Amino acid sequence: MNDPKNTESRLALVGLTVLVVCSFLAFAIIFFDAGNLFSSSSDTPSTDQVSTDESSDPSDKILADIAEAKEKLEEFQGRLDSPYLMPVNEQSPIPEGYTVDLMVLSHTDGSLSLDKAAASAMNAFLASAEGVGYHVSLEAAYRSEAQQQKVYDEKFKSFRQAGYSVTEAKELATAAVGSVNHSEHQLGLAVDFNPKDLEQAGADGTLFKDYLKKNIYKFGFILSYPAGGQDSTGRDPNGCHYRYVGLEIAEDMNNRGYTLTEYRGYLQNQITYYQQQITMLEKQ
Ligand SMILES: [Zn+2]
Repeated sequence: MNDPKNTESRLALVGLTVLVVCSFLAFAIIFFDAGNLFSSSSDTPSTDQVSTDESSDPSDKILADIAEAKEKLEEFQGRLDSPYLMPVNEQSPIPEGYTVDLMVLSHTDGSLSLDKAAASAMNAFLASAEGVGYHVSLEAAYRSEAQQQKVYDEKFKSFRQAGYSVTEAKELATAAVGSVNHSEHQLGLAVDFNPKDLEQAGADGTLFKDYLKKNIYKFGFILSYPAGGQDSTGRDPNGCHYRYVGLEIAEDMNNRGYTLTEYRGYLQNQITYYQQQITMLEKQ
């Protein structure tokens, strides 16, 4: 039974098995190391790629948000500081020493003028209105202090003649035309259309008052004293008095339906919001 041939073949089989196992181990070690080398050499740049990718790095996202908030803040602050958005009402008088760079309005007898930018815009509006069949006139534009005093005094007198007390007549005149140094006319930014012209029909039958509502904001003017706005404006509704605020602001105010006071409040809220956002983001 102890066949030497059998013993030889058994030894050969053991030797072969050892060889196969060793080879396998050798391969496994080489593979393992190579795998380690491979993975370490490929993981490093892939990690770098992640850190340079803006969309997934939180600190880059914060920096982008801060930049965006600062841009918004600047935009709203710029609007609030615009000279065309200066509030002039019974709470806010014309600043002392305020000067206006005046220009005579075309389509008038030469006696009416406005601030240069406002005058150019009004000239363009009047030409456009004329182009669609309206022949309108302006009753008032820029007023000096003395001219505003005269307008106020006449109004006061008319209320006194109608039987109102001095206190009542003062209140009524103020609500109707504004007291001296509290009128947008002294800014050189406001005009009064003739009330009679509001009912005038254009070439397509549209009344001028409707044409005004639909179009004048496209020239940078807004209705200062809308119906129902007394709490905000402190003035009686007046469908004839329009004020220049600049094109962009007029469009925005028209879309939002705000009076000047309300719009300034809205801008201030936006400014406060973005200031808080920036402070919060910068802490992160
Ligand atoms: Zn007016």
